[in-house]
Amino acid sequence: MSRHDNWEAVIGLEVHCQLLTKSKIFSGAPTAYGAEPNTQACAIDLGLPGVLPVLNGEALKMAVKFGLAIDAQIAERCVFARKHYFYPDLPKGYQISQYELPIVSKGHLDVDVDGQVKRVGITRAHMEEDAGKSLHEGFGQQSGIDLNRAGTPLIEIVSEPDIRSAQEAVAYLKKLHQLVVYLGICDGNMQEGSFRCDANVSVRRKGADKFGTRTETKNINSFRFVERAIEFEIERQIEVLESGGKVIQETRLFNPDTGETRTMRSKEEAMDYRYFPDPDLLPVAVGKAEIERIRGAMPELPEAKKQRFVAQYGLPAYDAAVLTGERALADFYERVVQLSAADPKTCANWTTTDLLGVLNKTGKSIERSPVTGEMLAGLIKRIVDKTISGKIAKEVFEAMVAGEGDADAIIKAKGLVQITDESAIVKAIEDVMAKNPGQLADYRSGKDKLFGFFVGQVMKATQGKANPDAVNRLLKEKLK
Ligand code: ADP
Ligand code: MG
Repeated sequence: MSRHDNWEAVIGLEVHCQLLTKSKIFSGAPTAYGAEPNTQACAIDLGLPGVLPVLNGEALKMAVKFGLAIDAQIAERCVFARKHYFYPDLPKGYQISQYELPIVSKGHLDVDVDGQVKRVGITRAHMEEDAGKSLHEGFGQQSGIDLNRAGTPLIEIVSEPDIRSAQEAVAYLKKLHQLVVYLGICDGNMQEGSFRCDANVSVRRKGADKFGTRTETKNINSFRFVERAIEFEIERQIEVLESGGKVIQETRLFNPDTGETRTMRSKEEAMDYRYFPDPDLLPVAVGKAEIERIRGAMPELPEAKKQRFVAQYGLPAYDAAVLTGERALADFYERVVQLSAADPKTCANWTTTDLLGVLNKTGKSIERSPVTGEMLAGLIKRIVDKTISGKIAKEVFEAMVAGEGDADAIIKAKGLVQITDESAIVKAIEDVMAKNPGQLADYRSGKDKLFGFFVGQVMKATQGKANPDAVNRLLKEKLK
């Protein structure tokens, strides 16, 4: 019996999600990632005296969109608050956030874990501004500050402590990530910090009804790290408690190199943020008509798309789930079906097996695919109209991946057109029979297995171009 049988983990996640607006949440400065340090923060982002923030309407709409997608309440009136703390990347001395009246509250997300649906409550999602960044490399003993990120709009999405394992936490995070990217409100780039997570973890004895003391591990920026950080924390806390100690409520940091978390600051050093409503910003009212307008403009969400793919294209649930995993992939697939007018399952196989195989191997996104939807549809069309066999199609596909052009160009350049002329196939069969008298005799005396040998020889003699159905049929006649 593992000691995990005696303990249960309790997990709640706080996710910071950068909104995909062109300009900052309270200023007109651009939000683009990767610019020269300190070229994209204006006086408002820095909170210089004499300037006033103005809410970016687009950021508000995106937050509402998110709220609607998780079936949450959208506040009729929400308020921005100042959260005070000192840190070099926050020159204002406070972060504009929301506290008592967030824009989104009481939503939920249904997550698949091991074939079971698990509902995770979402306590709230509030709008706030991001801070700048400290740079620790290239400044000797000192640190640099890049304020480009200051004022980038975020929603912070706070889950209920409903999650019970690292695996569930990752499933929830992936689903949330998929949703915000589908909604077009976040680019989802975790390496660039567009989507990052704080993990609150505690453990309690199985059957206990009170939660244990939690720790919060900050700013984890990959699914894999979230899993490892939570697993480490669960083990560590169980060990502390089983050896008679107490878990200290504290903020911790995850070190990807060691897979461990370590103390950053304890609760005694916890900050009193002195929240109060920001006097520079008016409360925000989102009217019912506006909410309905936003609802009307919502894209089809992953779950609905998946169900539609099953119903409309007759796909197995598994294929539908893979194809709708990303909105761009789903769009790609639908374009292939439409342009090729071929069997949807054939299109699904080419997309999920061949195309995704290449993309995964080369680490490319569907947006950067060397084979476009038009190109894949062009290839499938040539299989359907029997210009090429399914086997030759794989060769054409490889050539398309290698950048040799579209299917028709490759088929022409390589002379791959399928041989359907039966007299040519018969000729090849007769040659093969003449060259292999021994095998022929064996086959005729009952060695049925040799049929495959003859198919192989004929395909080889025609460089794989003979129509396989015709080869099989004609061989059966001739070998009799
Ligand atoms: P704070 O504002 O101090 O971070 P919150 O009450 O807002 O505290 O909770 C933050 C997160 O911690 C939420 O996601 C919540 O679900 C989670 N949480 C609260 N209590 C526990 C606990 N005992 N164990 C694990 N997670 C918890
Ligand atoms: Mg917190």
